[in-house]
Amino acid sequence: MQSTPSILPDLIDAVAATIESHAEEVTQLDQTLGDGDHVTNLQRGLKKLMEQKEALAAAEDWSAAMQKIAMSVMSTVGGASGSLYGTLFMALSKGLKGKPVDLPTFARAFAEAVDAVKKRGRTEVGEKTMVDTLAPVADALLTAADASLPLAQVLHQVRQAAEKGMESTRDMLATKGRASYMGERSRGIIDAGARTSQLMICAIADRLGA
Ligand SMILES: [Mg+2]
Repeated sequence: MQSTPSILPDLIDAVAATIESHAEEVTQLDQTLGDGDHVTNLQRGLKKLMEQKEALAAAEDWSAAMQKIAMSVMSTVGGASGSLYGTLFMALSKGLKGKPVDLPTFARAFAEAVDAVKKRGRTEVGEKTMVDTLAPVADALLTAADASLPLAQVLHQVRQAAEKGMESTRDMLATKGRASYMGERSRGIIDAGARTSQLMICAIADRLGA
């Protein structure tokens, strides 16, 4: 990855585009298991990030850019997603601070950031949340870094982990948030947060591979 976050505007565009094109599908998932506002919340955050694209690209390094994103997301997205994504980006900022951004560094920072999200949400893998997408992606990154895989293969492993993790939420029993009131009826439906995490990660992987 480049040492400055000049690619961030492209990544934000890619993320916004995939959320836009899957808005209806995700809202249906969220209307079944949640209160149906997940996409709207994410889009409010992405709109703000679009406005900040220039400033983000001009940030002195990845750590500074991640911190700006964290603040922006926390103040605009709101709700559980806002605080969890804010936590993720804040921890990424901390993990990348003062370091050259290579795969081993990013993989470690991402794994620490996912741990921070788990703590913040008091959530483990298997509870039908975004963690079910994020945790396997963190593992895939660490494994790819250990094996010194070439970028195309890293991105392939990341996409596969995200998709498999997202799919795994379908048969899970929801124990977190509003979805938990559904009990056994929550089985058979993919978690909206796991789906949007996967969509965003895959959009970023596609853009980085292009
Ligand atoms: Mg909601």
